[in-house]
Amino acid sequence: MRYPEKLLKLVRALAGLPGVGPKSAQKLGLFLVQNPEVAEELGHSLEAAQHLHPCQQCGNLAEAELCPICADTERDHGLICVVESINDLMAIERSGEYEGLYHVLGGALNPLEGIGPEQLNLERLFERLSGVREVILATGMTVEGEATASYLAERLNVSGSRSTRLAYGLPVGGSLEYADEVTLARALENRRGYQ
Ligand SMILES: [Zn+2]
Repeated sequence: MRYPEKLLKLVRALAGLPGVGPKSAQKLGLFLVQNPEVAEELGHSLEAAQHLHPCQQCGNLAEAELCPICADTERDHGLICVVESINDLMAIERSGEYEGLYHVLGGALNPLEGIGPEQLNLERLFERLSGVREVILATGMTVEGEATASYLAERLNVSGSRSTRLAYGLPVGGSLEYADEVTLARALENRRGYQ
């Protein structure tokens, strides 16, 4: 069956989004074409979102120099939670149990894929340790996440900073973003000194 080229192009673009299969892409595409006001609103939001950039301090998304979390004086600036991705940061925020700041690495160490310390947002972490009493290593419970936590713990130890790791109970082999809020809150609460 032939479809208009413009519709095909839209469906192809939608199918390129994470978690959207070909059927959903087609359904979404048709919906947008048939609901121009929704499409227009979406277009504006997409354009505005292009102006977001990494927070100078933590790597979260920001509109200004600092993200809303780093700029929030009510939060505990003596506590930094290191995560692999912004998705993981959002998962911890959803748990509602964490009051400190974050540091987003942008991945985990993975020598097989050529991801070493230089490829991650690591050095900035070591530049912001003054006045910080604890760094929580909340990288994933995967081989790469554990290797990253171990690497960081060693370097933090050398720089005289206290590091802790999320407690067990999180799904092993999984990314933080798939853990439910209660499990995450408990893992944070029961974090232990890194050894
Ligand atoms: Zn920030």
